[in-house]
Amino acid sequence: MLIFDAHLDLAWNAIDWNRDLRLPASDIRGHEKDEGMTAKARGCNTVSLAELRRGKIGICIATVLARHMRPGPLSAVVRYTSMEAAYGVAYGQLAYYRGLEQEGHLRWIKDWPTLQSHVEAWLSNGGDQPVGFILSMEGADPILRPDQVQEWYDAGLRIVGPAHYGPSPYARGHNMEGGLFPQGPALLREMERVGIILDVTHLSDQCFFEALDIYGGPVLASHHNCRALVPDPRQLSDEQIKRLIARGGVIGAALDAWMLSPGWVRGETTPEKAGVTLETMVDHIDHVCQLAGNARHAAIGTDLDGGFGREQSPRDLDTIADLQRLPEILARRGYDDRAIEGIMYGNWVRFFRDAWKRK
Ligand SMILES: [Zn+2]
Repeated sequence: MLIFDAHLDLAWNAIDWNRDLRLPASDIRGHEKDEGMTAKARGCNTVSLAELRRGKIGICIATVLARHMRPGPLSAVVRYTSMEAAYGVAYGQLAYYRGLEQEGHLRWIKDWPTLQSHVEAWLSNGGDQPVGFILSMEGADPILRPDQVQEWYDAGLRIVGPAHYGPSPYARGHNMEGGLFPQGPALLREMERVGIILDVTHLSDQCFFEALDIYGGPVLASHHNCRALVPDPRQLSDEQIKRLIARGGVIGAALDAWMLSPGWVRGETTPEKAGVTLETMVDHIDHVCQLAGNARHAAIGTDLDGGFGREQSPRDLDTIADLQRLPEILARRGYDDRAIEGIMYGNWVRFFRDAWKRK
């Protein structure tokens, strides 16, 4: 079955971690082990273009990710001391996608006609097609001013998540308390005017609600699980899920194991010990479907290789190609064929059709 994965940091892996994503995951692992790389997530990646094709993940949302260093809670990806440097790095990542497109590995999807024909081509020809991607920005740090949003749209950007870990120039991340920074509302209004979709993933709770009040365009949560099942501010509360459903939003279930299983201690708990499997991910998908009363708002947004590898993924997942086991799990849980197709790709396709047709 065709799969749409709504969150992959492909360019960040290729450029910051120097991974040749054209290779099978096993080759990338072997190379990193040969080089003596033993840091977290090294030598155990799960994503590459070869694996995407093998698993029929024919469409994804691919990110540019370049964080400006600011006072506040930090994470390993926060590294640039000026926004101009983040701007430059993000354009470098964008150019990486352009290069893969020029070599025939990717198809850059920026509008509904291209998405529609891409999906039809995958459904009829499967693996012969390039992998399609929609460009997103995780953390709006590379946008120097709100009036630069148009430039980014013209460059091919279609989605912005204003926050990531800690403070971004416009919004606070999920691990902080508080609302939007002074330039946040102007950024959101310009995104709506230009036609850039809002990704609420990583926003602090207060920023989430402020953003939904200010921004009237289409809203998604690209890689986000349920707080009711695993309590943490990184996850969506039932109230937030209901707000997204009321706005026609779609929520991508993520595969970072700590977001799937309560009580996870990073670096200590293992997927094996915690019993985290793809079935656990389906628990989160099912929770969204139960709140919606239908299967039209839950989907996939794995975030695989988003700073973690096999050590922090479900124990029955070796590479991203194993997502093909999800339809069978959903069927066992009582989902019919139409609902399963929606969760695997159709809900995202419908979301982008609606988002782009109203522009
Ligand atoms: Zn993320």
